Amino acid sequence: MKTGSGRYDVCIIGAGVCGVNIARRLSAYELDVVLVEKEADVSFGTSKANSGIVHGGFHTGKNHLKARLELQGAMMFDRLRQELDFPFRRCGIVVAAMHEDEMRAIEQLYMQGVDNGVIGIEMCSRARMLELEPKLNSDVVGGLWVPGGGIVEPYRFVFALVESAMKNGVEKLTDFKVESGAHNGDEWTVRAADGRQITARYVVNAAGLWADDVSKAFGAEDFEIKPRKGEYYLLDRLTKARPERVVFPVPTSISKGMLVVPTVEGTVLIGPTAEEIDDKTDLATTREQLEKILSSARAMVPSISEYDVITSFAGLRPTLEDDFYIAPSARVPSFIQVAGIESPGLTASPAIGEYVKDLLKKEGLRLSEKPDYDPFLASRIHVKDLTPFEVDTLAKGDPAWANMICRCEKVSEAEIVEAIKAGHTTLDGIKYFTRAQMGRCQGGFCTYKIIKILMRETGLPWDQITKNGGTSHVLKDAL
Ligand SMILES: Cc1cc2nc3c(=O)[nH]c(=O)nc-3n(C[C@H](O)[C@H](O)[C@H](O)COP(=O)(O)OP(=O)(O)OC[C@H]3O[C@@H](n4cnc5c(N)ncnc54)[C@H](O)[C@@H]3O)c2cc1C
Repeated sequence: MKTGSGRYDVCIIGAGVCGVNIARRLSAYELDVVLVEKEADVSFGTSKANSGIVHGGFHTGKNHLKARLELQGAMMFDRLRQELDFPFRRCGIVVAAMHEDEMRAIEQLYMQGVDNGVIGIEMCSRARMLELEPKLNSDVVGGLWVPGGGIVEPYRFVFALVESAMKNGVEKLTDFKVESGAHNGDEWTVRAADGRQITARYVVNAAGLWADDVSKAFGAEDFEIKPRKGEYYLLDRLTKARPERVVFPVPTSISKGMLVVPTVEGTVLIGPTAEEIDDKTDLATTREQLEKILSSARAMVPSISEYDVITSFAGLRPTLEDDFYIAPSARVPSFIQVAGIESPGLTASPAIGEYVKDLLKKEGLRLSEKPDYDPFLASRIHVKDLTPFEVDTLAKGDPAWANMICRCEKVSEAEIVEAIKAGHTTLDGIKYFTRAQMGRCQGGFCTYKIIKILMRETGLPWDQITKNGGTSHVLKDAL
């Protein structure tokens, strides 16, 4: 494997859901592709903290690129799920009108959905809404039903895409913060903050919140990405308020509103808020926003209780204009901008991979199919899905399958070791890969055990174990 001094055909900056979809799509061709990421692991940016919804294609008119890519991307999830085995389910979306005057907006969304070609979209009466989602407030007056909408675990989606891309030859360089790019002859020299450098004929800027800085560092377009914060609260899987469908309110002009999402792994997410902020690192959550989220969520699903909240988190939308900015730079050669990818970026991401592949081809990149491209990943074993007898059988080969590390989410020692072997060597990386630390106790019982396994498997001393790389040491001052 190259260690950061290689020559590549394409360098993709940013290992969020857009960058990894592009990398995986390109991995089907005879190309040397490198994916570079400033963080210690992939999916540590906006792609880790969102609603995890595969949207239904009715929120935006098809004159927007983001609407066209949303529709195309949403349709690609079933095949990707078959190939990559990540948690995904088409549970459908309901949009609940709580007042008669909201029905006009519902009708507009319906017309837009029909115009966009959304399959099965339906305007609903109160009775139909309650039949589709019995957890809804019985005061609902009507709404919209979009059966094709779904839910996905966003980080596991990213991890599976990266694993597949790497299986097909893509190289991944983490802790590689791109600082500058210079074009000489027919190639870019891409330099990282730590002095490493690589060269590539084409560069794709998929740097999320920092796509503006990266663009400037390459002498490309001057634009500004503004963060819009979304706070969430997560409810325990034991909550009685879990709906079967994703429940949306009628949208506002700046956001799709605060939702109630039955996550694909059995918990419930409520939120997000939508707050313009200045600081691209501000992921704080507040009591004040919790009140807002609870009241909005309860208006639609009254059984939601504050006592079921197990944690809170925030994500930052990388907002630019009213649409995605995906285009070759008009200022510098062989540089593709993938910027301003706010919602529905997760949904659109497989289609973004396809779109960027075509842009690169138009810019002169030769695409010749790899005869040995393998789109499939082997399914992973999850102890939580097994019977005790099946766990027993596995444990005869390796007792680590029967050693339960995270009791809340039922994750065994063997699964933690698999995560580490797959390159996830921070506590957050292991959390997103396995779900250990994500349950009711939020790592209260298992974090210490995971640290011990990490030390054993990696040889790292205790003071080098981090939450998410860099200086986020977890034990440094504690002992
Ligand atoms: C609150 C919220 C809710 C959302 N809900 C949904 C939803 O339900 N459905 C949906 O479809 N979409 C949703 N979205 C949108 C979706 O999450 C984003 O569109 C998507 O994650 C963007 O992916 P990305 O790859 O462009 O960015 P990111 O995931 O941020 O990836 C960019 C990467 O680039 C890296 N990077 C930055 N600078 C550098 C550098 N100099 N060198 C190297 N690497 C660098 C970053 O570390 C990061 O990992 C939501 C977003 C938010 C915030």
